[in-house]
This record gives sequence, structure tokens and C-alpha cells, in this order.
Amino acid sequence: MNDQISGLHHVTAIASDPQQNIDFYTGVLGLRLVKITINYDDPSSYHFYYGDEEGSPGSILTFFAWPGGHPGRRGTSQATVTSFSVPEGSLGWWLQRFDLNQIRHETPITRWNEEVVVFYDPDGLQLELVAHLGAEERAAWKDGPIPLEYATRGFHSVTLSIKDSSRTASLLTETMGFQKFREEGNRVRYVTGDKGTARMLDVLSMPNVPTGVVGVGSVHHIAWRTPNDEQLERWLQQLSEQRYQVSPVMDRQYFHSIYFRERGGLLFEIATDPPGFTADESVENLGSSLRLPSWMETNREIIQRGLKPLNLPNVVKEAQP
Ligand code: ZN
Repeated sequence: MNDQISGLHHVTAIASDPQQNIDFYTGVLGLRLVKITINYDDPSSYHFYYGDEEGSPGSILTFFAWPGGHPGRRGTSQATVTSFSVPEGSLGWWLQRFDLNQIRHETPITRWNEEVVVFYDPDGLQLELVAHLGAEERAAWKDGPIPLEYATRGFHSVTLSIKDSSRTASLLTETMGFQKFREEGNRVRYVTGDKGTARMLDVLSMPNVPTGVVGVGSVHHIAWRTPNDEQLERWLQQLSEQRYQVSPVMDRQYFHSIYFRERGGLLFEIATDPPGFTADESVENLGSSLRLPSWMETNREIIQRGLKPLNLPNVVKEAQP
């Protein structure tokens, strides 16, 4: 099969307080809250999706909110860094913003000719802004709180930390269609898909670092893009043939997906581009109210009673008269 993963679809992480999460990602980072729903496997917890204006695949960072949940620990068999693209020359503006809002960050570094600043969300999740040429050509949220010249442009990449990365490397290059792009020290960068999409993945070999713990402030899984249901079925078949334990196709309302654990220990998902986040809300109204799948709608009142009320960002456009 010559199928190739076309890039990152989404990254899902775990937060503690839902309001704190919304305030940070919409207020400080200026992402658009494109969907408010619940964890379909645990209706007592929120599931938020943030992204660009339309919630494009490759821009979507999602959170399960677990108030009082146990803290995660960064380590191997984890996606340890989620990186966003920003236009070249914008990091000075971002550093001022972080200092003003007392956001924990490190001193910027240069990595392969790109300027990088590491920072942390309120739960300690490690993030990066990567300033690079060409970022400005990708979609942003033009009506968001961040001036367009600085606004994030979807994901730049995700970094995986793995004790022994050899079997992950062969999955990426022999099955998923990634190519090894560059290598320095213990870092290997892989690339897939077309220019202009979130198509890079860094793998750090860390043989002596303990396995991470999934919990608040850590990534739960990362999802890769596939264009349609037919291709998703082919991935299911091919991965099963390679003896991965693959879930059946799940209906996640905004995409269909399968899950499997790769041999470096990370939970991978493959998700379809359609139907997308406008399946149940217009672009103008994305993220403006709690959305439930049809099979949960009859229990809306009970579900809502179990959820903490939210102050939503005041960014929804005025309704048309
Ligand atoms: Zn997912």
C-alpha cells in the first residue's frame, strides 16, 4: 500500500480546571475555542477543541478537563512537546506577552535555523512557539485576540520522547509514509504530507529516561490525518496485519478514527478530515455552546448538571438580526 499519513490531525492533552484552560488557550495563546463537548467515554468531563478559525486538521489541540485529577509526569513513551508555528520575527512580541501574563517560559534557542521558545500552560504542559519562514502563509484566526502578524498558524510539529525509538522509526518510515528529514544528537526529524500542513515530527531517543505518566499536564494521544473513511479502513487493515491492537472505527462526531499503541509506547490515533467541526455549528458560531452527539442529547440536562458552568471567551460574532 502506498498510502501516506498527510500530517497531524490533533493532539489531545489533559487539563485540571476547565475555566483556567479556556482562559489560557483563548486568552493568552489566542487559539479559537472551536468545540465544547464532553468526553464520550466519560460524560462527566469536558472535552474542548481549540484551533484556527475553521478548526482545520493540523491546528487542533484538545483537552479533557479532569479537575482534581492526578498530575502527569513527563517521560518516555510520551509526546512531550507540542509546537505551534508563528511568523518569523514574532517571538519578541510573544515573550513580552508571556512576561506580562506571568507565563513560565525559557530563553529562546535556535534549532535548525528556526527560533524556538519553550513555555508551559498552567498545568505544566510543555509547548513551543517555533518562528519560521512560510508560517505566515498558513491559516490563522483572523478575528482572534492576537494581531495577525503574530498569531499562531497551527502546529509546527510534535516531539515524541522514546527509550528505544527503532521500532517507532520503522512504523513511521515503512508504514506511515514519513521520511527522515534531519538528525542531530538524539533528535531525528521526520516529515510527511504536503507543504503548508502540520507535517513534522521530532523523535528524541532517551534510553535512560523513565516512562512518563499520563495525567494532568501531559499529552494523552496524538492523531494523524487521513482523507476519508475508505483510507481509514485500509489503515485499520494494514496495522492489524502488522499485529498492532487496533480499535474498531469510532464515531467522534467531527471525524472517524482508530486508535493503536505504537511500539515505543505512545497512543496513536488516525482520524479522517471530514466531516469536521462545522458538522453541527456554523463557522461563525463554532465553540459557542455545549454540543452533544445525538445519542447523548436526551440526557443533556443530566449531563449539564454534572459539568462546571463556564465563562466563554467573548469572541462569538454578533448573531445576524
Ligand atoms: Zn483524539
